[in-house]
Amino acid sequence: MKSPRNLIRPQVQQLHAYTPGEQIQTTRLIKLNTNENPYPPSKKVIQAITRTCDARLRLYPDPRAQGLREALAQYHGCDPLQVIIGNGSDDLLALATRAFVEPQQQGVALSCSTIQYFDPSYSLYPVLADIHGAHKNAVALGDDFQMPSIRMLKKEGRWDFKAALTYVTTPHAPSGRGYATADLDVLCRAQKGVVILDEAYADFAHENALDLALKHPHVLVSRTFSKSFALCFQRIGYFVGHPELIAALDKVRDSYNVNGLGQVAAMAALSDLPYFRKGFEKIIQSREDLAEQLAALGFGIYPSQTNFLLVHPPLAPAGQWYQDLKENKILVRWFSAPAITSYLRITVGTPDQMKTLLGIIKRLLKRYESGRISQKGNI
Ligand SMILES: *Cc1c(COP(=O)(O)O)cnc(C)c1O
Repeated sequence: MKSPRNLIRPQVQQLHAYTPGEQIQTTRLIKLNTNENPYPPSKKVIQAITRTCDARLRLYPDPRAQGLREALAQYHGCDPLQVIIGNGSDDLLALATRAFVEPQQQGVALSCSTIQYFDPSYSLYPVLADIHGAHKNAVALGDDFQMPSIRMLKKEGRWDFKAALTYVTTPHAPSGRGYATADLDVLCRAQKGVVILDEAYADFAHENALDLALKHPHVLVSRTFSKSFALCFQRIGYFVGHPELIAALDKVRDSYNVNGLGQVAAMAALSDLPYFRKGFEKIIQSREDLAEQLAALGFGIYPSQTNFLLVHPPLAPAGQWYQDLKENKILVRWFSAPAITSYLRITVGTPDQMKTLLGIIKRLLKRYESGRISQKGNI
């Protein structure tokens, strides 16, 4: 059969799709690679979903997800016009490129087609920029994933203070590092274009920057029900920000971009906050315990404000650790990007899962110490 390749826009032919973490469906694996919540959503959430699963599935859901916008407005103390819901926050991050960034073309100032972000950070940002035909400006973070000061950014000269769109992952991924709201405020004030503070992990942090979205007309805060509310499967994310930016995003979204069961689930989660808050606390406690124990075993640890730890493993290369953990039914994330390829990112699980993880790590350490690094990692 003749290839239809020449029917595809050249720009799309050249794209590299985003690489998600492996989604292996087996219960025998301890899955610590995509920052899912180890605790299930509450009974109320499950009940709300099952109660909705009847003949109503033939109907379209609320195209604006208005009930959820109102519940979130109440949760954050803002107006429903300051909230938009997406099919996961990834959906909204993509919509923002369409609404705020000019594709690169002659006669358009470079800043107007620039999507900017720190490197490393969420690896979806460059993919979204490429899809949109935008100019990418990836600027290195400081030592230990610190956010550079305005003075440093000016001195170094590569940061674009007029970039149409700037994504900041805060708390930072993949390091877990938290950024002070005061520092984010200074950065936001220095930017002329739209700034999106991607707060996917805010519920595991001791502060968040939501107020900046209520205070500055050009700042949007991105949140998701995936991580802290254990609803990855339902794909619900949202932005909070100025009503005019929200209205612009509403114009470019699909009319039914948020599925009905997701809307039901997210509203039920918001009505059961004490359950989820207990979960945040448990995960934070497990994170601190794991960090302490891995540090005692010689791992380099970055303090985390998220539900994962970025660690520098001792004795063997990170890729070897990744393989050997996988052989032992533990899946963690290992990145190929040079800046982070010597690290592993480990999602915080339940205390039982962390006990199993530590047991296997101790056995691998013994093996590496005695120089028995093999191709097959079974202990
Ligand atoms: C998980 C994650 C998201 C995406 O969340 P969804 O709502 O599931 O699309 C966005 N940003 C960062 C930094 C994340 O880690």
